[in-house]
Amino acid sequence: MSKSEYVIVGSNVAAVGAIDGIRKHDKKSSILTISFESLGSYSKAMLAEYIEGANAQWLEFRGKDYFKKMGVDCLFGRKVTGLDSDKSILTTDNGEEISYKKLLLGVGGVPFKPVIKGAEGKELVFTFTDLLDAEKIREALPRFNSAVVIGAGFTGTEIAYTLNKLNKKVTVVELGDRVLVKALDPRSSEIAQSLMHGEGIEFYLNDTVEEISGNKEITGVSLKSGKVIPCQAVITAIGVIPNGELIKNTPVKFDRGLDVDDYMCTNVPNVYGAGDVVKALDITDGLKRSLPLWPLAFQQGLVAGKNMAGGRYPYAGGLPINSLKFLKVPILSAGITTPPDASYEVIYVSDPKGTFYRSLVLKEGRLKGFVTIGEIDGAGVLTGLIRNKIDISGIKTKLLNKKKVGLMQMPREWRNRIFTRRDETDYHD
Ligand SMILES: Cc1cc2nc3c(=O)[nH]c(=O)nc-3n(C[C@H](O)[C@H](O)[C@H](O)COP(=O)(O)OP(=O)(O)OC[C@H]3O[C@@H](n4cnc5c(N)ncnc54)[C@H](O)[C@@H]3O)c2cc1C
Repeated sequence: MSKSEYVIVGSNVAAVGAIDGIRKHDKKSSILTISFESLGSYSKAMLAEYIEGANAQWLEFRGKDYFKKMGVDCLFGRKVTGLDSDKSILTTDNGEEISYKKLLLGVGGVPFKPVIKGAEGKELVFTFTDLLDAEKIREALPRFNSAVVIGAGFTGTEIAYTLNKLNKKVTVVELGDRVLVKALDPRSSEIAQSLMHGEGIEFYLNDTVEEISGNKEITGVSLKSGKVIPCQAVITAIGVIPNGELIKNTPVKFDRGLDVDDYMCTNVPNVYGAGDVVKALDITDGLKRSLPLWPLAFQQGLVAGKNMAGGRYPYAGGLPINSLKFLKVPILSAGITTPPDASYEVIYVSDPKGTFYRSLVLKEGRLKGFVTIGEIDGAGVLTGLIRNKIDISGIKTKLLNKKKVGLMQMPREWRNRIFTRRDETDYHD
């Protein structure tokens, strides 16, 4: 049996954060990462570019040289299949046993796969969550001219846009009544949908795919509404859920996400979690939930790593920020964009040409979230106002009407607070 002081399952961004965190306190002890993928840490935000033809190595944000430089041993292409948290032992898919003193689960999320009649046995049914999925889609490109994407969230709209750009006929089917429901408010959803429709993408909202027809090759899909859409490929992009596979049959608590405390530790003292697999603190409402975003996974990993190595750093919480970079008009949102109840105030401005839109969501005078379309330069100031819980009652309309929100327009006292506040994670998104 091999041994390592620290074992990290996963080698993506949560793992990198943890390695940075561990090495801040412990320069020498052994660290081992295990990942079933072939790359070091890579950007999933760039998977679309990979499908368009980019080199896989180009996606790496921390390549294998980083792991070497940090004195980390790596097992790539290896899956962890068992965890005995009482004995602190992991088992891999080739039967190897590895013991650890501290374990980080940075195993990310898995795609939610709906059960659809006829999906079984069809070759061109895909998910879009990792490089392996992107490789399959890229390889299959010459085999289809039309595709149905199920789900109009971030990954669904991104893959739809990419395939459309590659001259495929794309139809998006969404169960909800609008696109990008988690990130945008109803008005900005409409703008985003109309921008995508303008590029040639068709949408069916309030509907769902009930059946995929054809034999081995897909001929089309049937929707709940009765509509039949001819197509040759189907991509399900309904969302990513925390990956609880490894902790099944262990005492590690998991309820729609790994339960971690403020120090990113699970209920089992030497087992930590970070990234898409955990439920983490959302600073906009103080609740813990799955926040599957790259910078937050890094921050959580960093905090977990420092604590694994003997530090005592609480996770300050994260602000969910979403940026739709593939559209011709930039769209960025943060925090709460659609208020859950009437205690919030929403103000917005929309220029008649549809090239600029901004909405602000406030509670008791403080900014809780925003959407900005067409002009995203001031977004850093807006996120600073959210993080610092600054009362914006006196300047809220200024924040709306100025296309460029500059720090210099803020009162000096606020500027100082935004500039001087630092949290314990050494990282700012
Ligand atoms: C298409 C797409 C686009 C995205 N775009 C953005 C964006 O623009 N901005 C943004 O902030 N976020 C974006 N995200 C989300 C972001 O990529 C994730 O939040 C981030 O990758 C989470 O990092 P992680 O390390 O927690 O998990 P992951 O990146 O999912 O990595 C999980 C790791 O665990 C390993 N693993 C899992 N199970 C096992 C096992 N049993 N054995 C061995 N290894 C295992 C995997 O090999 C992998 O190394 C996007 C995601 C997708 C899918």
